[in-house]
Amino acid sequence: MTRRMLIVGPPGAGKGTQSKKISEELGIVAISTGDIFRENIKGGTPLGQEAQKYVEAGNLVPDSLTNRLIEDRLSWDDAENGFLLDGYPRNLTQVEAFDEIIARLGVELDVVLELTAEKEELVSRLAKRAQQEGRSDDTEDVIRHRLEVFESETSPMIAEYSTRGLLKQVDGLGAVDEVNARIMKELR
Ligand code: AMP
Repeated sequence: MTRRMLIVGPPGAGKGTQSKKISEELGIVAISTGDIFRENIKGGTPLGQEAQKYVEAGNLVPDSLTNRLIEDRLSWDDAENGFLLDGYPRNLTQVEAFDEIIARLGVELDVVLELTAEKEELVSRLAKRAQQEGRSDDTEDVIRHRLEVFESETSPMIAEYSTRGLLKQVDGLGAVDEVNARIMKELR
């Protein structure tokens, strides 16, 4: 049974929506670095103040800050029996740090689930989300930049997990429940 997993894929592929469902179905906590940054920005905390300019420009928050945040979060009791990470690791440097973090926790990663989607579909989904949620990084220019950051920095980290034999790919196109059924089939 899958207990420790990552969900990866381009912005707009539906990672956030699917991670909430998977987390309920598997009874493991879902942790989204993007959500943590957004909450801290909203609350004006020191972490939020540091992260704000990166998030709003669609750039990655510095690795050292993000790695520390995740190491702390994974030490909470609710992550002891499993976790689903959404949005971390995001590049190869974070993969290295994450390897060390989970080694210190004495656990192993079971699976990396990739949600795939075509670029034009992503741009239109993100534009729709911008209207519904008003996320400050969902403007068209920032959306395109986030897709570029995904290509240049995040794709190599997905390739790394593929090399390690941990990657499972699921087509992210379709209704939420349909995509979820595909995911659960892959995980079971
Ligand atoms: P997301 O909601 O996962 O698309 O993340 C929104 C924004 O939060 C990203 O564009 C980055 O600015 C920041 N962020 C989220 N996760 C990370 C990460 N692992 N490393 C660096 N920045 C991140």
